[in-house]
Amino acid sequence: MTLGSPVDPAERFAQLRAAITRACRDAKRDPREITLVAVSKTFGADAITPIIAAGQRAFGENRVQEARAKWPPLLAQYPGLELHLVGPLQSNKAREAVALFDAIHSVDRPSLCEALAKEIARQKRTPLLFVEVNTGAEPQKAGVLPHEADAFLAACRERYGLTISGLMCLPPVNEAPGPHFALTAQIAKRNGLKLLSMGMSADFAAAIQLGATHLRIGTAIFGERTKGTT
Ligand SMILES: *Cc1c(COP(=O)(O)O)cnc(C)c1O
Repeated sequence: MTLGSPVDPAERFAQLRAAITRACRDAKRDPREITLVAVSKTFGADAITPIIAAGQRAFGENRVQEARAKWPPLLAQYPGLELHLVGPLQSNKAREAVALFDAIHSVDRPSLCEALAKEIARQKRTPLLFVEVNTGAEPQKAGVLPHEADAFLAACRERYGLTISGLMCLPPVNEAPGPHFALTAQIAKRNGLKLLSMGMSADFAAAIQLGATHLRIGTAIFGERTKGTT
């Protein structure tokens, strides 16, 4: 991690905020265009509450089950928080996901679109939706392939009546992220999508340069994770 690792969570968070502001200045971007999603997967309320106290409002989780166990008491206690699902979503969890999350970053297949459309209509809740693009065409990874993205986005709209607000990508771990961010931005632009969920602890500055609107940052806020998270 390039930010150093102050032990005090509030201090580490302040350093990250400052680094994001610097990256915005370098990229000539307005920091108000950028939502920081604090990815709290594997961390409990004891780690999360100091970050809420420091003013953070958007939090991300990668598993529905874990989020459901952890967040309802926090959401009740701290009005005004928003919860983002950044990990893959199974269609049979669409009901729980629509009920709990304010944004879903991992829309990537027709069966999920169908389940989400049904729950959005039933629950009258409209989470912000991002389509995940598998920019590295990695076989083990979720997301639509880049060459399928335009057709998938058209199907989301026309076939399922879903409003997609942006794209999300998770570049391959051993590659420079820039080309993946640029490709995601290009696909978003030609499809008229304004939001870009890209950039994590190690690469948020590059993501800001290339147009990110939603940074998904875990380690730089909460420290290294000890539990498995895939
Ligand atoms: C864990 C996770 C992140 C945060 O990664 P860090 O490197 O800890 O900042 C971002 N996006 C997704 C989809 C994740 O699962």
